[in-house]
Amino acid sequence: MNHSPDLGSILRPRPASPVVEVEDERFGRYGVRLLAKRDDLVHPELPGNKWRKLAPNLRAAVEGGFPGLATFGGAYSNHLRATAAAGRLLGMATVGIVRGDELAGRPLNDSLARCAADGMRLHFVTRAEYRRKAESEVLGRMLAEAGAGSSYVVPEGGSNALALEGCAELGRELRGVSDVVAVACGTGGTLAGLAAGLGPGQRALGVPVLAGGFLGAEIRSLQEAAFGGPAGAWSLAEGFHHGGYARVPARLEAFAADFGERHGFPVERVYVAKLLWALAALAESGAFPPGTTLTAVVTGRP
Ligand SMILES: *Cc1c(COP(=O)(O)O)cnc(C)c1O
Repeated sequence: MNHSPDLGSILRPRPASPVVEVEDERFGRYGVRLLAKRDDLVHPELPGNKWRKLAPNLRAAVEGGFPGLATFGGAYSNHLRATAAAGRLLGMATVGIVRGDELAGRPLNDSLARCAADGMRLHFVTRAEYRRKAESEVLGRMLAEAGAGSSYVVPEGGSNALALEGCAELGRELRGVSDVVAVACGTGGTLAGLAAGLGPGQRALGVPVLAGGFLGAEIRSLQEAAFGGPAGAWSLAEGFHHGGYARVPARLEAFAADFGERHGFPVERVYVAKLLWALAALAESGAFPPGTTLTAVVTGRP
């Protein structure tokens, strides 16, 4: 493999991302102190939880001498984009198996175009086949068809046991800093790792951005695989998905634009906007006792 000089920036531990005070009446008036963990700044090209989850997997792929990386995602997947960027930085071949064969003959959307520009080979599969990717026979066939038979395979959303270890470090960086640490959830891998890394007396709060309600079981099984059983205190605040994945109704858009303007950081819409909205609503409903320090993890940027 032809590794670039950026190898170290991805594979080595990085300095803790900053924690900043967010002065906002929507929290302050209920006696809640809001902090933001600027994990969007943790790596210039692999922001936030994508770096946390990918770095240990990339290390394993490099150490194991794998010729490339294969992973899965939908047409707007941040995880696919991050994997493609990592491949470019590491000089490692990447294959993205994309949900929806109807996309194959069409011009690529911005997100997939970025993946392709970073050198990712895109392989489109039907939705029915994509759903069965956990079956080893189906997976084997998909990888072979994609020309990625001997690749290091990272699951959809990047959430495996190594990824949880990476996210536990996020929790350790927040020990002693906050009573509650809140994060938006897709697969729940970030929450599962974060909870494991927090100290005694701290708890993690997850805000699912997808409608559904299977996430609790998913998080328990991810923790079982990574840590051998439950780890840390966590709960989920359901009901803040705003209609489903990547749906951004006008009032959420307005909230996110205003929040970003007031506090000087760009609010990513698919995850972070829903997290911040949920926290403001929960504060208003008295979910956090006065005196609570609450940290919102800024897991990515637009
Ligand atoms: C991928 C992503 C998440 C979701 O992480 P999970 O570990 O899948 O729950 C949250 N925030 C941002 C910005 C993301 O890109």
